[in-house]
Amino acid sequence: MDKQFIVKQSEKLKKAKEDLQKQLGSFSQESKTSDGGWNAKMPLYNGGAEEEADEVEEFATRLSLNDTLQEELKKVNLALEKIKKGTYGICDKCGKPISVGRLEAYPQADYCSKCQ
Ligand SMILES: [Zn+2]
Repeated sequence: MDKQFIVKQSEKLKKAKEDLQKQLGSFSQESKTSDGGWNAKMPLYNGGAEEEADEVEEFATRLSLNDTLQEELKKVNLALEKIKKGTYGICDKCGKPISVGRLEAYPQADYCSKCQ
């Protein structure tokens, strides 16, 4: 795969990583535990039962968004690792190259369009 393309992809991935970390940081705390994951912050309670119900719901929303963003961040990190190892752009399932168009649209793609 051509070097210039990889450099471009690596820049996109770094940018995506920053964005994801920023989004996660807005409502989650980077966990200091071994897995290096993120924990959604529990919203602060300010009294009333009605507000509490809202906050629990809000927390559930945060948790699912937290999972989605973390999943994405994992893929971005994996793609950056692959760039370092020189295996970027290869399908994790069938080992064939992923099309450039697909990688341009989604730099952290780990499967080709057939295996996806
Ligand atoms: Zn494949």
